[in-house]
Amino acid sequence: MNLPYLSDSHAHLDDSRYDSDRENVIREAEEAGVGLILNPAVNEHSARCALELTKEFDIVYAAVGFHPSDCRDFDPDVHLPMMETWCQDEKVLAIGEIGLDYYYDDGAPRDLQKKVFETHIDLANRMELPIIVHNREAHRDTYEMVRDLLDEESGGVFHAYSGSVEMAKQLLDLGLYISIAGPLTFKNARKAPDVVAYVPLDRLLLETDSPYLTPMPYRGKRNHPAYVRYIAEKIAEIKNIPYEDVVYQTFENCKTLFGLDV
Ligand SMILES: [Zn+2]
Repeated sequence: MNLPYLSDSHAHLDDSRYDSDRENVIREAEEAGVGLILNPAVNEHSARCALELTKEFDIVYAAVGFHPSDCRDFDPDVHLPMMETWCQDEKVLAIGEIGLDYYYDDGAPRDLQKKVFETHIDLANRMELPIIVHNREAHRDTYEMVRDLLDEESGGVFHAYSGSVEMAKQLLDLGLYISIAGPLTFKNARKAPDVVAYVPLDRLLLETDSPYLTPMPYRGKRNHPAYVRYIAEKIAEIKNIPYEDVVYQTFENCKTLFGLDV
């Protein structure tokens, strides 16, 4: 029997760290059994690169949006019509990566981040697409904005989830998905194993967040979508269920959330 396909719901393949070997990285992922890679954009340039990759590679899909760290470059008059056009592309599956990031002292002003986030959530509602949410040190504001602004039919996922079990419960109550990345595999992981134990398998997604957050045993090196299997293995271990079940169900979850028919 063939193994089910792995899915990497969040990888920045457009990142310049793949400039020298991008094609190989994607081919190696495919050979490692990855059947879907979703490349979220962080700004206009990265959206254009991601869209190019979707044309070149069957397994690559894209999301479009402005990351909170890039929100100063967002011009609604220019970028909203552009993104509406991109959303018509069948390989554009979501609005992302969007959200709030309060980690950096010199980051974009919080009011601007919120305004840009709100504009993107409105776009997702209009386009009936799910959102891919980035949240760093901004749990309360991010949660409240999604709760108050996102249409239930749009849906979405909190990527590289780093919050508490309590917040995970609140997100599940909103019908959202929780995406798990490499830090789950770290020896000092504390909250993440509890979150994985708590969240039902049919609401979990796998991701690498390549080139960041490289899982064990490659921590510290550049990440690779093929490494998503280490996260699936860890989830199987924590939930005490077969690895194949994790791989199969998380791919099904991608199909459900992103409206994919593959
Ligand atoms: Zn990301």
